[in-house]
Amino acid sequence: MADRSLLLIPGPTLVPESVLQAMAQHPIGHRSGEFSTLMAEVTAGLQWLHQTTNDVLILTASGTGAMEAGIINFLSPGDRVLCGCNGKFGERWAELCQAFQLQVETITAPWGQPLNPDDFAEKLQADTDKTIKAVIITHSETSTGVINDLATINRHVKAHGQALIMVDAVTSLGATPVPVDDWGLDVVASGSQKGYMIPPGLGFVAVSERAWQAYATAKLPKFYFDLGQYRRDAAKHTTPFTPPVNLFFALRRSLELMQKEGLEQIFARHDRSARMVRAAVAAWNLPLLGAAASASPAVTAVAPTTVDAEKVRSLLKKQFGIAVAGGQDHLKGKIFRIGHLGFAGEREMLTVIAALETVLHQLGQPLTPGSGVGAALQVLETTL
Ligand SMILES: *Cc1c(COP(=O)(O)O)cnc(C)c1O
Repeated sequence: MADRSLLLIPGPTLVPESVLQAMAQHPIGHRSGEFSTLMAEVTAGLQWLHQTTNDVLILTASGTGAMEAGIINFLSPGDRVLCGCNGKFGERWAELCQAFQLQVETITAPWGQPLNPDDFAEKLQADTDKTIKAVIITHSETSTGVINDLATINRHVKAHGQALIMVDAVTSLGATPVPVDDWGLDVVASGSQKGYMIPPGLGFVAVSERAWQAYATAKLPKFYFDLGQYRRDAAKHTTPFTPPVNLFFALRRSLELMQKEGLEQIFARHDRSARMVRAAVAAWNLPLLGAAASASPAVTAVAPTTVDAEKVRSLLKKQFGIAVAGGQDHLKGKIFRIGHLGFAGEREMLTVIAALETVLHQLGQPLTPGSGVGAALQVLETTL
């Protein structure tokens, strides 16, 4: 039954009922006073979520567009950048930088492992001429369920003193602390269909004062994504081009829900969900792709060896109407990924864990029925 489906992929994520209802209205004119009020409200909410007083600009784009905008506005052709690559998204940013003729050096780690901050320190310390213009990393690597140690890598960037730190926070923002001002993050990109609990279509970029200084001399071509225009217009509570106004209605409602819940509570909920899933997977004797120490709060990647990952996914969908994600690139068919980002919480985790347990048992995974649910309940009892 279509209406009974439960979307637990790492984006698009579940949308709360009241957010859906907020969207079901006639559009308003984007040059109206009503829209200006809305723009001011959501901008304040976004600053709260990013823990910043910097600009947080809103683009009509998916997360990739927000990231592209964040990179091309502050750099010039031939600029040397370090890109962290330990999964699909890290690799995407290296490709994007190459497309814009930047001089890209990648710092890699195997898929499923976190980037090693020492590798960044080494390159940054060796750069006495200060030729590195930016360090670009994916905070939560959605393709593998691994979170990178942004705080430590950022400290190395700050010790360098010149390079900007640019972060794909698409599945970390709203799931784990990303204190933009405290850490001095220069560019932070995200997208609406992840932690924001609204449908796809909006991209967000937080920009520091230091990044704006770089903007003044940056020479990469840009037009639709020229963030200078967005900044000037945002100061007047408007946007340079027609925004998807109904998504702004949704955003206002979702930010309101988030503020009601509170940042600490939101982060605790994501941590709890991740731990419930990992405890269940351990109880079923299934391997996880990433180590517990670098577990993403947004998504968990399971790498079964005794059952077929794609069969797990299709049975879960067929019997329970629950969608989980598969693997990307060389991990296709090898893993399945459970999204626990945004609106998902204890109720959804208990549901997916019980359903998975049933499916795994049917497929012949040696497990004790009830063991996964029991392990998850234990996490729940000790963390609620
Ligand atoms: C989803 C996601 C993106 C954005 O992808 P789009 O399809 O462009 O929205 C970027 N980075 C990460 C880590 C993601 O999970």
